[in-house]
Amino acid sequence: MTIPRILKLDAGGLPVEWVDWREAVSLYFTDKIAWEAGSEKIRLRGGRSRDTGIRSFLEIDSIIAVRDRSHRFARNLVPALTRRELFHRDGGLCLYCGTRLSFSQMQIEHIMPRSKGGEHAWTNVVSTCEGCNRFKDDRTPEQAGMSLLALPYEPNLAEWLILANRRILADQQAFLERLAPKRKARFDA
Ligand SMILES: [Zn+2]
Repeated sequence: MTIPRILKLDAGGLPVEWVDWREAVSLYFTDKIAWEAGSEKIRLRGGRSRDTGIRSFLEIDSIIAVRDRSHRFARNLVPALTRRELFHRDGGLCLYCGTRLSFSQMQIEHIMPRSKGGEHAWTNVVSTCEGCNRFKDDRTPEQAGMSLLALPYEPNLAEWLILANRRILADQQAFLERLAPKRKARFDA
């Protein structure tokens, strides 16, 4: 069984990052947990007591607020533009022709070409298939007569955390969605 990742919040209750269960356990043992905010408990098997032979269990919460020096959630923070999160933002589709892509097939396309001053930024990149990328080449969509199936957006940290965890638990998803802007078209790859 793969143990789900734990959503770590800062002491103000805003999301910071995903941590794996080992890190979560050490936060419990070092008394860093300020409070728990999940509706799911993850039960971990501990060691066997030498005296009784009974195995111990530790329950960790799916969402933990931590008293430490974590950077607080910044509402204007732009999450890193990463290939995997871009792939999920665009639903695993070529945003020009709609072909479903595998992760390795996906290419990153600059809508305004970099040679024309286009930025390498969330709002100027989309995932594409090789054919569309090659056809569009160093042109703007208008010049190439191509149109986008959806407008590329810049995720906030909450959305980025959703994109970054493909095995997200329902309560974690609900928690993050409350902090994500409403969007007309959101793919779910
Ligand atoms: Zn395509």
